[in-house]
Amino acid sequence: MSKQNENYTDLDEFRNLFARGLPILMYHKLGKPRGPLGFLYVSPRLLERQLRELKENGFRGAPLKEEELLSKEPGRIVLTFDDGYQNAFDLGMPLLSRYGFRAIQYIVSGRIGGQNDWDFAKGIRPERLMDEAQIRDWLAAGHQIGAHTLTHASLTSIPPDAAREEIAASKKALEDRFGIPVEHFCYPYGNMNQKVAGMVEEAGFRTGCSTRFGVNNPKVPRFELRRIIARYRSRSFRSVIGSVLRTAKLARPTFKA
Ligand SMILES: [Zn+2]
Repeated sequence: MSKQNENYTDLDEFRNLFARGLPILMYHKLGKPRGPLGFLYVSPRLLERQLRELKENGFRGAPLKEEELLSKEPGRIVLTFDDGYQNAFDLGMPLLSRYGFRAIQYIVSGRIGGQNDWDFAKGIRPERLMDEAQIRDWLAAGHQIGAHTLTHASLTSIPPDAAREEIAASKKALEDRFGIPVEHFCYPYGNMNQKVAGMVEEAGFRTGCSTRFGVNNPKVPRFELRRIIARYRSRSFRSVIGSVLRTAKLARPTFKA
């Protein structure tokens, strides 16, 4: 058996896996890939291709909900966007509505209308985060929001009291501001352990999304949901060789008669 590619670009290599459970795709930023961790950008064009292909193949966008996690009905997919970027709102929302998909944005509650300041020290490009009005529009369009801590904290690297506060206060801040129950949580950097998962459950969340690879079935713990990162095809040995050969071919002198 060949090894499962872990980066989602198109449906072909994922049909078998998607038949085994509920897939949750993970997106971050939309736009042209640039800077360190540029792979966290997906172009609107690639997103559109992915949505069109899923739709043509009979997939429907499922909301993140316990019932959906328990159901075994095939052909469902959950779309998640981490951090709440404005580019996902501007470029993603029209595409989601065109193809009839819904999505959940994991909001950093203490940075609404701000920037991804947690990334700056790594030289990652600043990007604007959705403001309150945009989050309201996002919700009004039928999408969901979830919490992603107050400050994008790495929950396994801070004292337990601080972690508990980051988790519980992020839920309350979103609920107070938007007047809706906030039941879904996502661990920044995917950093989590049993203790942190317990805190998320105690705070009253119903699910927690990790960055562990795979699809979800009723046996996958609700606070360790598996996801699959959507990104450009990674350059395999074969594609590198292919491009070397293509370049060699182009560079070959042409002889004119
Ligand atoms: Zn994040």
